[in-house]
Amino acid sequence: IEESEKFRIEYWALEEAKLARMPEPKPLATRVALVTGAASGIGKAIATRLAAEGACVVVADLDAGKAADAAAELGSNDVAVGVSCDVSDAVAVAAAFAEAALAFGGVDLVVNNAGLSISKPLLETTERDWDLQHDVMAKGSFLVSREAARLMSAQGLGGDIVYIASKNAVFAGPNNIAYSSVKADQAHQVRLLAAELGSEGIRVNGVNPDGVVRGSGIFAGGWGAQRAKVYGVPEEELGAFYAKRTILGREVLPEHVANAVFALTAGELSHTTGLHIPVDAGVAAAFLR
Ligand code: NAD
Repeated sequence: IEESEKFRIEYWALEEAKLARMPEPKPLATRVALVTGAASGIGKAIATRLAAEGACVVVADLDAGKAADAAAELGSNDVAVGVSCDVSDAVAVAAAFAEAALAFGGVDLVVNNAGLSISKPLLETTERDWDLQHDVMAKGSFLVSREAARLMSAQGLGGDIVYIASKNAVFAGPNNIAYSSVKADQAHQVRLLAAELGSEGIRVNGVNPDGVVRGSGIFAGGWGAQRAKVYGVPEEELGAFYAKRTILGREVLPEHVANAVFALTAGELSHTTGLHIPVDAGVAAAFLR
């Protein structure tokens, strides 16, 4: 028997053995979630929802003070802790998981949410813009998922990794080459890791929001003003403006994105992996104006 054939047989025997002991998803109330970028906006809404469902939550964000404050809003430190973590730094990511394991004994649900948006036309996008965008969102989510997979594999209980990607992962957003392309990268990480980690019961799915204006630090930090100028609407009316473009005519709020994370991780979708759920009131299906 050839060496390569022997390898093939051994490889599939190992995969089948893993599949045979595939763990079922644990109820949310018994789980430990680590949410990146959870001191603000969508991440904070996700952390709040998971904590309300009874999960222990690790709020991982750049600023230690903001992470601790957001965790304190969720409850005492036997149910929520804040850790400072720059997701683009491998050492910091490993330290955040170590802190989570120390606080709660492990991690079985991870949300890759941390992000920023550098949205400029091609000719204005600098090399530094490109590197920062990709360091935080492509490299950052890779590092977080790698650490999550390491820990979840060692625990042997499966788990969930959820990416907060974007409608822009699928559809090109105007004038934002760096942001749109990094979101497409995240969407492909979902498919790649779903395939690679599935035999261990680790599901990897994505959520694609669009137009979450209220509560978003990205919108408050300049992106909202820029979009308002492009569309010729007052910035305070931007949420309603986005809503009018959608099939449902409804504004998307951070809580709606959190609902999708809940749906993916509460157990009912135990046979779903590699999926992206749009939370965009229908924009990805039909863009009305
Ligand atoms: P936000 O600014 O309110 O939240 C982002 C959080 O990420 C902040 O708390 C920030 O401190 C943190 N962060 C930034 N860089 C980090 C780093 N290097 N390490 C750790 N944390 C870091 O913005 P948001 O609108 O809530 O966005 C959250 C996610 O949702 C982002 O990935 C964004 O791309 C995605 N998203 C947002 C929208 C929207 O319309 N707001 C649409 C699609 C996707």
